[in-house]
Amino acid sequence: MGKNKWQINCLFIKKIFALIVDLFFPLKCLKCQKIILKIDQNYQIGDQVCKSYSKDLFGKYFCQDCITLSYELFEPPFCKRCGKKFEHKFIKNHFCEDCLKISNSFRKVRAGARYSGIIKESIQLFKYQKKLALVDPLGKIIFSGFVEYFKPSEIDVIMPVPLHISKLKQRGFNQAFLVVKNFKKMLEKNNIFLPMNIDLYSLKRVKKTDPQTNYSVLQRKENVKNAFKVVISEKIKNKRILLVDDVYTTGATSSEAARKLLEAGALTVDVLVIARV
Ligand SMILES: [Zn+2]
Ligand SMILES: [Zn+2]
Repeated sequence: MGKNKWQINCLFIKKIFALIVDLFFPLKCLKCQKIILKIDQNYQIGDQVCKSYSKDLFGKYFCQDCITLSYELFEPPFCKRCGKKFEHKFIKNHFCEDCLKISNSFRKVRAGARYSGIIKESIQLFKYQKKLALVDPLGKIIFSGFVEYFKPSEIDVIMPVPLHISKLKQRGFNQAFLVVKNFKKMLEKNNIFLPMNIDLYSLKRVKKTDPQTNYSVLQRKENVKNAFKVVISEKIKNKRILLVDDVYTTGATSSEAARKLLEAGALTVDVLVIARV
């Protein structure tokens, strides 16, 4: 009985604290601008903190309504090479039709999530509206993809797909770099210490390309042809490279970057993205 009373008091104090936080430090939903109430967020159902992925990762950034957007994990079954999702749930991973027909330059593509719902919304807000706070949940998502599908010991270099200098100036940041910036620290937290480095300089984007959005698969390939150039080949030779990007759609960009890296002597090139379509 005494313990119960103590628990009720404790909950009451937590609620008062949440109310004060709401009053003095109101958070706004990054999508719809509605105020996010902390008092609603954590103490709704008998003080049960919601454990869903969306809430854990995005609760600070989106309101109760916007957070209900779907969250789809990147999980099997998918194509062993390009990571394309197979709709049929009860089959094993194998090569998809495209990968059997054409040979892509990279070894495998893996992701933290599928490009839909709240992930799609967050990546677009992050990239195009500079909502940089989202680097935290998006960084966690891509890191979960790394831990799940790669052995840290099979990668020598992490390489964010470079932007053309004009795009970098216009956006102000390379989104792929920001989400992997803390990889080393995150691994060290799990007691994994590796001489894995982030290389931002050895591969350059030398051609200013049009946005790929409105192009067909073939046009996308043509658009990014020779868009990259290896400028420091000693750093590429005999290295196992992990190319990192925010989204993988048709793979035209990463495939072209991988082609150039392999041409310059890279041993293997893998691709890791926050989200795969
Ligand atoms: Zn909202
Ligand atoms: Zn495939």
